Amino acid sequence: MISEIKQFEKDSLPLEPDGGERLNLTRQITSYIEQYLKDLPQASAFEEDDTPAKALSSLFPDEQGRAKEELIQLLDASLVKPGINMSSGGDLAYIPGGGLYVSALADYLAAATNKYSTIYSVSPGAIRIENMLVRWMCNLVGYDDKSFGHLSSGGSMANLTAIVAARDAKQLLHEPGKNVIYFTHQVHHCLLKALHISGMDPCRLQLIPMNPDLSMDVKGLEQLIKQHKAEGLHPSLVVASAGTTDVGVVDDLDAVADIAEAHNMWYHVDGAYGGFFLLTAHGRKIMKGISRADSIVMDPHKGLFLPYGSGAVLLKDGHHLLKSFYMEANYLQDTHVPLEQIGDYEEISPADISAELSRHFRGLRLWLPLQLYGIKPFRAALDEKLLLARYFYRKVQEIGFEVGPDPDLSVTIFRYVPASYKNDTKKTNQYNRNLMKAIQNEKKVFIAGTEIDGVYWMRLAVLSFRTHLEHIDTLLSSLKEKTASD
Ligand SMILES: *Cc1c(COP(=O)(O)O)cnc(C)c1O
Repeated sequence: MISEIKQFEKDSLPLEPDGGERLNLTRQITSYIEQYLKDLPQASAFEEDDTPAKALSSLFPDEQGRAKEELIQLLDASLVKPGINMSSGGDLAYIPGGGLYVSALADYLAAATNKYSTIYSVSPGAIRIENMLVRWMCNLVGYDDKSFGHLSSGGSMANLTAIVAARDAKQLLHEPGKNVIYFTHQVHHCLLKALHISGMDPCRLQLIPMNPDLSMDVKGLEQLIKQHKAEGLHPSLVVASAGTTDVGVVDDLDAVADIAEAHNMWYHVDGAYGGFFLLTAHGRKIMKGISRADSIVMDPHKGLFLPYGSGAVLLKDGHHLLKSFYMEANYLQDTHVPLEQIGDYEEISPADISAELSRHFRGLRLWLPLQLYGIKPFRAALDEKLLLARYFYRKVQEIGFEVGPDPDLSVTIFRYVPASYKNDTKKTNQYNRNLMKAIQNEKKVFIAGTEIDGVYWMRLAVLSFRTHLEHIDTLLSSLKEKTASD
């Protein structure tokens, strides 16, 4: 038996490389990344050909490993190159972010030390880091000390968490057919998923009319509520957006708060895209009233440029998370804090207020850049994005494009109507689809489109920290050149 154990120990040794081998591997990966980042300003914003990615599907693990040089080459060709280059400043589609380098290093530190950011007594430092960041965000939105929340993997999970808390707080599954949930057609689809996953399909889901700029028609909401009350229904939950994905519109958060308070409804604000613009003066103005929401979502992997995998959910009354997510288990009895002893949010364990148990220590990738650089460069980058979107909005009209509503934040829509297609939506739509494709194929910048009431629009979303004036000018000159003869 002993000799067998020894043999297995020997065979498993590659899992713990020695110092020399570790340094060697680390150097190869960092020098690959160094080259990648040096080439990034010139790199394609988009590679449509996914043939190299196919090589990955057949590469099942063998009993023996492969050479690291071979693997790095494979990853470069099959993983890094194909698809949209989300690290590029030319990424102007969907909601970009970028991926801060120092956050990648924080992930390295977090993973190499494998801190358990789940239960306070197991990793008090990790929990204090995450809970401090949550408190910082609560302060940013204007919540008081009763508020709390947690860091999630992204906006979808954060929205789901908030919806579950709202469900339990308002007992939405008690006579569900009587409970009405209100949102506009512009709400992110993850909220519809959240309503489905949390079992709220039997509730009455009500679309709120929108203003011409695609923001919520708050008077329309109030009318619906009054009408529903008269019918004996319970208006229970309203979802507003602090920056819609489609057109970047911020609903009138203060006015929605008035209505939610008057009718004793749960008020949720999805700020996954727009929330961190609260760091700017413009953002604070346009999101006035956000602190009156019962729950708020914001995504550090969007507005703070972190690598993907970072969202946050904040509750005005943090206790609601305990009510929905606290649960005991006998194998955790030594580390668990009894519910009645939980008071101090500084030491509260994410496991007690979220759906996760073991989780990535995702706080460090947010903590390190904020501590290292301070808030100022983040605020500057966000202010820059706001101005770039405004600059584009003005310039693109000067070269003959139609535009959507004035950008509230950093997303805007635009399209070109060739003189000969004036009254032909179908042909104009196709023209703009082709134009978007032509811009994509140039590979200098990457944009995407959306369809609103049967009209196709190209869409500009400026949020990567690497997007600057030069990228916007590149797009503008391509648009001008490609429409010159139409
Ligand atoms: C991106 C986004 C989401 C979804 O967030 P993920 O982090 O992608 O899961 C939700 N709401 C809005 C407004 C978004 O822009």
